[in-house]
Amino acid sequence: MTVHTFGQQTLAIHVGSTSDERTGDVVPPLHIASTHVQDAVDKLRGGYEYGRAANPTRDAFTQALAALEGGGQGFAFPSGLSAEDTLIRALTRPGDHVSFGRDVYGGTFRLFTRVLPQAGITASALDLKDHDAVAYDLAEQGSVVLWVETPSNPMMEVFDIQALADIAHEAGAVLVVDNTFASPYLQQPLALGADVVVHSTTKYVGGHSDLIGGAVVVHDGLKLPAARGGWSETGLVAEEIAFLQMTVGAVQSPRDAHVAHRGLKTLAVRMDRHCTSALEVARFLADHPRVTAVHYPGLEDDPGFELTRKQMPRGAGGVVSFQVGSAGAARAICESTKVFALAVSLGSVESLIEYPPIMTHGSKEGFDEELPDDVVRLAVGLEDVEDLIADLDQAIAAAF
Ligand SMILES: *Cc1c(COP(=O)(O)O)cnc(C)c1O
Repeated sequence: MTVHTFGQQTLAIHVGSTSDERTGDVVPPLHIASTHVQDAVDKLRGGYEYGRAANPTRDAFTQALAALEGGGQGFAFPSGLSAEDTLIRALTRPGDHVSFGRDVYGGTFRLFTRVLPQAGITASALDLKDHDAVAYDLAEQGSVVLWVETPSNPMMEVFDIQALADIAHEAGAVLVVDNTFASPYLQQPLALGADVVVHSTTKYVGGHSDLIGGAVVVHDGLKLPAARGGWSETGLVAEEIAFLQMTVGAVQSPRDAHVAHRGLKTLAVRMDRHCTSALEVARFLADHPRVTAVHYPGLEDDPGFELTRKQMPRGAGGVVSFQVGSAGAARAICESTKVFALAVSLGSVESLIEYPPIMTHGSKEGFDEELPDDVVRLAVGLEDVEDLIADLDQAIAAAF
């Protein structure tokens, strides 16, 4: 007998969405209860006791997300950064070191460089393209975590997850991939050897700019290093996260989990359009005489093109960054668009434009990781692409 395995889009629509037994609702009801009746002392119905520990709506979403990532267990958090914080607390202890890619999200950079040190955890940035240097640094620092964001924000660099997984594992470190920019539709880091995936579900998973959320998906069976001493008896990272999440209270509300779950069901069709429109916008920019550089790994002459075809075969995502030679012009373009809204964030149906050196990556100012001052970041949305290109065309003309 052949075992039929469902495709990702079927999983997105059906996992966690079994119809309600009593009413036949085709989508599961929104469970807003903070507490659940017990049939006898400590005899729980379906394992549900109190909303900080577990909630059926949150579980439905995390089951679906874990299925899409091809991973064991998923967890939903009130924000991407709260997911990152809880994960790092689970994986590290005072005295530990975390190595991360230079081009990480500004908020991640702030967490790693300003908050973790106070807990006795040091962190340092690496060029993830230089694999020898990564291997050397992990061994030298005794890093317990290698943190990778690919494609990176905002420069859209692409890093080789499979190669970095091998390097991390050789050094005894856990490989965490922030999969926010790609989404599980475009990239499945666990299948490439990563141990843990993190998301800001605020972005493509939610997809409509009406939600702040985060998630973690952990590879089945991933354990803390033996010397760690965790809170669970098994030492399984998933159990450590569940314990911490319940203990510190970093849980997503059922209403937000429901919105994130609904977003997951249209992720594939949205991502396809984000990718085709972003590629058209990137091509337009690459041909524009005022544009000095375009960063989009879906362009044939982008340094990340070959790796992207291998690692993200369905498309390069919806974010495009470009440079225009001066900070003044970059800022003026951001302030001159009419369809692209001047706002941080990405991953939604509406197109956004921003100036990263100040708006999203200000936490890197004065550090080696500081961005070029003439960069503009676009989050290409789902409007008609002709309108987006015309808008950029007039904004660039207005800025010069
Ligand atoms: C937005 C973002 C985060 C942080 O997520 P929040 O939901 O804003 O807390 C982390 N990583 C990446 C790549 C992001 O874009």
